[in-house]
Amino acid sequence: MSKPPGRRPPYRRGVFWMGLSIPALIVLYAGLMFFTLPRDIGQEAGLKQFFAWAQADQVESAVLLSQDRRVLFVREGGDYWTALPPTEQYMSQFVQVSLNRDIPLEIDQQVIKSLIQPATYLVPALIIVCAFVLIFLLLRAGAANPFLRAAARRGAQERPVTFADVAGADEAVAEIREVRDYLLAPDRLAAIGAEAPRGILLAGPPGTGKTLLARAVAGEAGVPFFSISGTDFVEMYVGVGAARVRDLFRQVRERAPAILFIDELDALGRSRVAGATAGADERDQTLNQLLVELDGFSTAPGVVMIGATNRPDVLDPALLRRGRFDRQIVVDRPDRGGRLAILRVHARNKRLAPDVDLARLAAQTTGFTGADLAGVLNDAALLAARRGKLAITELELEEAVDRALTGSEGRARLLSPEEKRAVAYHEAGHTIVAFACPAAGPVSRVSIVSRGRNLGFTRITPDEEKLVVRRDELDQRLAVTMGGRAAERLVLGQATSGAKDDLRRATALARRMVCELGMSDALGQVALGRPAGGTFLDDGLEPDYSGEVAALIDREIRRIVEEAFVRATDILKAQRLALDELARLLTERETLREADLAPFVDPSRALPPVLSS
Ligand code: ADP
Ligand code: MG
Ligand code: ZN
Repeated sequence: MSKPPGRRPPYRRGVFWMGLSIPALIVLYAGLMFFTLPRDIGQEAGLKQFFAWAQADQVESAVLLSQDRRVLFVREGGDYWTALPPTEQYMSQFVQVSLNRDIPLEIDQQVIKSLIQPATYLVPALIIVCAFVLIFLLLRAGAANPFLRAAARRGAQERPVTFADVAGADEAVAEIREVRDYLLAPDRLAAIGAEAPRGILLAGPPGTGKTLLARAVAGEAGVPFFSISGTDFVEMYVGVGAARVRDLFRQVRERAPAILFIDELDALGRSRVAGATAGADERDQTLNQLLVELDGFSTAPGVVMIGATNRPDVLDPALLRRGRFDRQIVVDRPDRGGRLAILRVHARNKRLAPDVDLARLAAQTTGFTGADLAGVLNDAALLAARRGKLAITELELEEAVDRALTGSEGRARLLSPEEKRAVAYHEAGHTIVAFACPAAGPVSRVSIVSRGRNLGFTRITPDEEKLVVRRDELDQRLAVTMGGRAAERLVLGQATSGAKDDLRRATALARRMVCELGMSDALGQVALGRPAGGTFLDDGLEPDYSGEVAALIDREIRRIVEEAFVRATDILKAQRLALDELARLLTERETLREADLAPFVDPSRALPPVLSS
């Protein structure tokens, strides 16, 4: 939730002042203590000692400090002090003796001290009160109030987000631009008689810029941006969620024109039939309240709701009805040009070395979202800084991409020469097969440097613009995937554990070919399995066929994967020299880039015949 500049939320102001006043009071207290501490000059002497010296006429002069109940006296040129017990008896005895012995006596009433005295009790009490108030404010501002948490998150960023900050999502921006136009002049649409936009649903994978887009609309239109996450509602105790919804909408309405952004709408608006778990009751209540408020919004001018979700399929249909979130804008992963645009946006405030080629980086980051790309540039900047470089170079960028691809770089694991050779042959196998199977896409990098769980990787950039994929192209992809295992078997004579992910991927692709794409002659042109309910996170298929068909499917999958394996083996046998050389080079240099690989690409290489039907 945002506030106009200059108006801090009251809690935060309170916390600020309380946090400031406690140390100030402590300092004040220390000063008071120091000031009110009884004065002592010279040596301490007992009361008895004083009387003895007084009787012997040795005391030359004395000062009685009435607040401190102390006597300062001079005896034979030396300074002494003595404390008086808090009874009148000693006081009068002291005065008596002084008079009798003709000791010059001065009485200091210590007026200031007597005035300050009460403060030494008051200040500690004040400190305790302030501490309690502070704890109370922190509890209220922090834990219990998601809106304020959102406000805190937003506080860091001052410059309003604009459409120029959202790159590579031109279609989504074009669609949402209408919302901005409406917010800028809410009455104009009404004058024409057009229906005002109410609820917009942004659908797309995490990190593709949905939040950014919503913020940009608010920034462009210069209206307040209220933001809350669906999970915030769900976490709340029974009955509170619905109240929160009411409260939030009231606030937003008061500040219209405004944008209310609900992130992770699926957490809240999950289909009521599908997710019948514990806590569903509360969610129902909250959802119902949300629906009621949504309808109320139709009469409140100038308020636009933007919802975001990465699971539009599981949303309660009631949410998507007219007048609610009835417009859906898809925010997809950026394509190559989009990635370049995003990289340019995020490179604006970073210093890049002249050799850096963002277009190539964009080409090598298929599947990356805007958030991933922003992360890559940021990681690279950190790496460059750590290395004391003045600008980000290709080296840091490549490393940052590798990290993003394989999780964070773990502790460097040392491979034995034996293991290293196995990994090198495995990756070389993928690469050599890929060169013979152009449909799989160009190899941009091969590495046997261990990162995260993977011991090595071969980065192949598939042609993403391709919308229709032919059967033989899928077969080529499968062969490349099996290339690692094929090389192991061919060279080492046995399998290693390094092909685990490859096997899973190959099997999954083969299953799709058989069950969804009708690419198995044995089963024919049918789609097998029906989409699972979508209640849980997997959106796979559940069987809707007989056991016999299931057995046949398994057999077909096995056959397709096996054929890909044979094909990869044939390629590797034919290219054995290249395989050995590439594996050797990999062992030696550990990472090979596109330029290093060029000698291994032989365009004249004939493609072995497609074996499978
Ligand atoms: P989502 O809400 O879809 O999960 P966000 O909007 O939170 O994604 O994106 C996170 C961050 O990633 C943004 O703050 C921005 O830095 C970056 N980002 C994502 N998409 C884009 C984009 N299209 N253009 C520029 N930056 C982007
Ligand atoms: Mg987000
Ligand atoms: Zn592999």
